[in-house]
Amino acid sequence: MPVIDFHLHAAQPEHYYPWVVEWMQTFVEEDFLKHIRDLLTPEGVQQVLRESGVDYAVVLAEISPITTGVTTNEYVAEFCQGVDCLIPFANINPFMVARPAQELERCVHELGFRGLKLLPTYQLFYPNDNNLYPVYAKAEELGIPVMFHTGSSLFRGSRLKYGDPLYLDDVAVDFPNLVIVQAHSGRGFWYDRAAFLARLHSNVYMEVAGLPPHKLLDYFPELERLADKVIFGSDWPGVPSIGANIEAIRALPLSEETKVKILGENAARILGIETKE
Ligand SMILES: [Zn+2]
Repeated sequence: MPVIDFHLHAAQPEHYYPWVVEWMQTFVEEDFLKHIRDLLTPEGVQQVLRESGVDYAVVLAEISPITTGVTTNEYVAEFCQGVDCLIPFANINPFMVARPAQELERCVHELGFRGLKLLPTYQLFYPNDNNLYPVYAKAEELGIPVMFHTGSSLFRGSRLKYGDPLYLDDVAVDFPNLVIVQAHSGRGFWYDRAAFLARLHSNVYMEVAGLPPHKLLDYFPELERLADKVIFGSDWPGVPSIGANIEAIRALPLSEETKVKILGENAARILGIETKE
């Protein structure tokens, strides 16, 4: 079964505002910019994935000009082009696109995207906003998953209220065939909501990027019961080591079957990656 990292950023430092780079600098002893420039190429990322034991990674675009910066869909599409192990997810900022459903169709059909990531806390909208409904209908029609940032964000200008997983309940009810992934699983004080939604709705999943993996059972005491709904993600390079996070999950007191599901099987199903039995 493959190991899949559902949450990876390939943005160049100049795509970000300085405060994002300053925060990332706190993870490494050497100069972050020097450290990251060599790694942030398709070849460099593939090497990081190989060394971490990761077979596939979802690479995220992000168009958040008032909070973190802009990593365009075009950049991410080109970064992933021709590299089988990199799976591009588009971003649509509903305040910057007049016809978001058409933009999603363009991203999928012309640029090769295989999923959508939305960033309500960084782009200041509620996930159940009517303006987004054509996007959800289009994603459902195209058969691609939609991942939402949920829970806290460190970066100035982002607003926590938009990250409440509860707003995804409307989306899950209105689009029962849409795969909804809660990035960060309600990080902060909504872990219970994220887990409850994942149990309530067959189409809602939890992704655990940016959470300390050794604490997952503290946040989600019923993790084993949610085995089919939990997806591993790292948030690299916003975490120091993908491999260490994978090892921490392997060390949790969970069944082997559950660990295999979290580390790749669930993501493979969502992404349509064929697995050999
Ligand atoms: Zn992230």
